[in-house]
Amino acid sequence: MPNANLIPVFDGHNDFLLRLYFGPDQREKTWLQGGTQGHLDLPRMKRGGFAGGLFAIYVPSPRRDKTGVDGIMNNPPYDMPLPAPIPATAAQPVALAMAGHLMWMERSSDGAFRLVRSAREIEQAMDDGVIAGVMHMEGAEAIAPDLDALHVFHALGLKSLGPVWSRPTAFGHGVPFRFPADPDIGPGLTNSGKRLIRECNALKILVDLSHLNQKGFDDVASLTDAPLIATHSNAHAVTPSARNLTDSQLEMIRDSKGMVGLNFGTVFLREDGRRAPEIGWEPVFRHLDHLIERLGEDHVGFGSDFDGATIPEGIGDVTGLPTLQDALRRHGYDDALLEKLCWRNWVGALRRTWGD
Ligand SMILES: [Zn+2]
Repeated sequence: MPNANLIPVFDGHNDFLLRLYFGPDQREKTWLQGGTQGHLDLPRMKRGGFAGGLFAIYVPSPRRDKTGVDGIMNNPPYDMPLPAPIPATAAQPVALAMAGHLMWMERSSDGAFRLVRSAREIEQAMDDGVIAGVMHMEGAEAIAPDLDALHVFHALGLKSLGPVWSRPTAFGHGVPFRFPADPDIGPGLTNSGKRLIRECNALKILVDLSHLNQKGFDDVASLTDAPLIATHSNAHAVTPSARNLTDSQLEMIRDSKGMVGLNFGTVFLREDGRRAPEIGWEPVFRHLDHLIERLGEDHVGFGSDFDGATIPEGIGDVTGLPTLQDALRRHGYDDALLEKLCWRNWVGALRRTWGD
């Protein structure tokens, strides 16, 4: 049933391109007809009021034993071993394929989906009732230290880049999936990483802090002239995962007029750090309340991690966004605040970063 109070959601992070990449025979059917697998597809995005978001190009490591990962993450304390680095020569064809996914998604959607490159284009797409996709890269494996490929991907539409997923790259060291743990684990950016940040600034590419460790975070903060943004991370004070943001990191983000997108991943929401999806709304409220208290209500949004994480059963998939909004209304958030969380803050932060 259409919800009259449905507020559109622009989201900071999803892994839909990876799901398409893993199912090449079914990919157009997955996108256009959808189904019940995963969290995202075009029909479900429309039903859930998904206005758009950052779509991650992420190069997977060779398949890990999924049951092993689940077993580890359901039994804290844990420290997931990180996969080996991936050379640029191996990563580039995969990253190009995923960039290509965004392009055929646009062409096949009959005007329902548009690849966008500016805040103005996001607003235009929202006015037109078209879903807006921003090209993001999670981990810069496909870019060699000469940075030539950065310019190529930028020309293809790349507007946001995380120098690392948690796996190490030529540019830096990511934060491991460790619970409970402080994010201050390992060294910061390499010299190539510092050059990458400066080049991203020059090209007006958002530098994503999610997955960076403390020293990498501090290196970006001291180099960048853009707002500090973590697209999909939560509050360490509530869930002490190494992937979450400490209060001092939140303070730096606030002072830069930056942005944090709430990650729906249960391992980053639950106080016990477990992966199990059976949680009520309390952990979501606690993280959002904390982020709003520390950052102010103009600097918090969503970074769902749809198709990349186990999410609360109360959300289920992208069609659960209206249910989330209803829960937040019951928690006491009014529609003006909900609009900020759902899309206005993201558009504002992207405009401050990109300049238009
Ligand atoms: Zn991620």
